[in-house]
Amino acid sequence: MKLTLVQGDITQQRADAIVNAANSSLMGGGGVDGAIHRRGGPEILEECRKLRAGQYGKGLPTGRAVATTAGRLPARWVIHTVGPVHSRSEDRSALLASCYTESLRVADTLGAASVAFPAISTGIYGWPMDDAARIALEAVRQADTAVTEVRFVLFDAAAYATFEARL
Ligand code: ADP
Repeated sequence: MKLTLVQGDITQQRADAIVNAANSSLMGGGGVDGAIHRRGGPEILEECRKLRAGQYGKGLPTGRAVATTAGRLPARWVIHTVGPVHSRSEDRSALLASCYTESLRVADTLGAASVAFPAISTGIYGWPMDDAARIALEAVRQADTAVTEVRFVLFDAAAYATFEARL
């Protein structure tokens, strides 16, 4: 597997699938989630509504992943995953790792060869970037997947530098 880091906006990435740091409602939010729905258009939210009306009536559980179309985005699919909120009293790192492995599992079912990830849980959900980078890189490296390219798309220079140091 080829592992690359880029600094930029995940909504502009050409990859078979981009991953959304969603919340369990699947109804949109801030950060990456807001940007994906804004740029991707209403088609994505429409599919999310259908998922909520069917299989995920109670919302998508933390650490799980599900795919929709990517609407007007250059990617073909959006894989929505729900990162854990960072906690100082409880170790939730297995759930964060699960976001990456579950997203790659969904990518495999789609036949997606290239997948772009944001730094899940490091925004509104408060996970320290260095620890999140360690967990993300370890999870992706150890994943049993047919995906041939994983790209981490870091929003700012500091996040990029942190991932680069960990890599
Ligand atoms: P979470 O709720 O999982 O913390 P956020 O979307 O708030 O998700 O943030 C996750 C990470 O994504 C943060 O490091 C944030 O800076 C970054 N980010 C925000 N917008 C974008 C974007 N358009 N492309 C890539 N990364 C982004």
